[in-house]
Amino acid sequence: MPAGELEAVINKIAAAGVVGAGGGGFPTALKLKTSPPIQTVIINGAECEPLLKVDQELMARHPTELLATLATLVRATGAQTGVIALKEKYREAHAALAGEINNYPGLKLHLLPDVYPVGDEHLLTSSVTGRTIPPGGLPLQAGAVVLNVETLYNIHRALAGQPVTHKYVTVTGAVRQPLTLAVPLGTPVGELLALAGGPLADEYVLIAGGPCMGKVTSINAPVTKTTKGILVLPPDHPLAASYQRDLNRELRLALQVCCQCQQCTDFCPRHLLGHPLEPHRVMRAVTYGLADITLPRALLCSECGLCDLYACPFNLSPRQVNRKIKAELQQKGFRPGPWQATTPSPFREGRQVPTQSLISRLGLKEYYARPVTFREGNITVNQVSLPLKQSAGAAPEPVVKPDDWVTAGELLARIRGDTPGANLHASISGIIVAVNGNITIQGGVNHGDH
Ligand code: SF4
Ligand code: SF4
Repeated sequence: MPAGELEAVINKIAAAGVVGAGGGGFPTALKLKTSPPIQTVIINGAECEPLLKVDQELMARHPTELLATLATLVRATGAQTGVIALKEKYREAHAALAGEINNYPGLKLHLLPDVYPVGDEHLLTSSVTGRTIPPGGLPLQAGAVVLNVETLYNIHRALAGQPVTHKYVTVTGAVRQPLTLAVPLGTPVGELLALAGGPLADEYVLIAGGPCMGKVTSINAPVTKTTKGILVLPPDHPLAASYQRDLNRELRLALQVCCQCQQCTDFCPRHLLGHPLEPHRVMRAVTYGLADITLPRALLCSECGLCDLYACPFNLSPRQVNRKIKAELQQKGFRPGPWQATTPSPFREGRQVPTQSLISRLGLKEYYARPVTFREGNITVNQVSLPLKQSAGAAPEPVVKPDDWVTAGELLARIRGDTPGANLHASISGIIVAVNGNITIQGGVNHGDH
């Protein structure tokens, strides 16, 4: 490894405000600042949330940038290999990467089956390296670091001195023209709907993210560094209803109908990997108010949603119960584990859920079949509102004030020293009109006009 290369790479990534673009928004520079040696850099191109197309498009359109950046990371970290893991069915992306990968000794492609949730870090690391991350642990404990495809693309830009200013998003579901495009950070969701030709009906529910792990959002919510998709659903769609469940009602219902059939546990991907997570036991304990020793194991739940969206015959939601327990334990500062690593279940392969089956179960066949256009070029947005906190860790401190003029790419807020978090940059040029929990920029004004 060239002396100081890793430090230089990490500094550029931190300066550019790169965070995980595919999940919780963990600051990428921190992820690479690790003491245990990294053996494998895994690029997660599984994009296993049905309906999302961001990573597939980036892999198909930017193979050179992605592979060259991965090669740089492998060299800088001293890893033995870099692997891009993608579903075999992503034919365009696979062909684009396969056409160039021979130029990069040490890099490999790893093809994944079309099942959900194959992109979960624990499942992916196990599939690529053959090593199991201990329950509650990190990929590093299996010698790996996992980065999302769009994160890698942002690292490519960061190494060229370009900060994170835009986000690729798929807008899909009940819209006139489903599409994938890059928009400035802080763009309101309502603008995305307009770009997708508008919703198909006056009433709708908006989900930010994919159908399985998304969150209800609104037309005024801004696109952030972790917004991967906007799904529009009719309000009477069963999936829309499942996003609006009330936990107390759920628990009353569970008390009446949970028959302890264990289907939720039988299909739980973390349980099948050998983790001591048994959602049926959590359901029993919570509904009957029992102090069960397995409750803290809710912390092992990835919230993939397979238990409530697919497995439970009564549509009960062990995921929601796990989420509640996790929040309570985290609030109490509960230190989990360590849990014993166990061997994967012999039934694991047979219980993997094909995406097509999941799509049918979710009532999304109609939307899944529709083509999704990729829109090239820049999108003009007149006003953006960028939340200060768009990543795990602390919010950065603003370095601008109202009435300041900023140009796209300029620093808006800086993270202090080694505090976990990420810098934030202007996504459009314009005048700062508000600095509070968000920084709002009004574009469409000439610099000399104010
Ligand atoms: S699948 Fe549903 S009914 Fe069966 S144990 Fe789990 S929560 Fe209860
Ligand atoms: S959401 Fe359900 S299926 Fe997914 S990890 Fe949690 S308990 Fe298991």
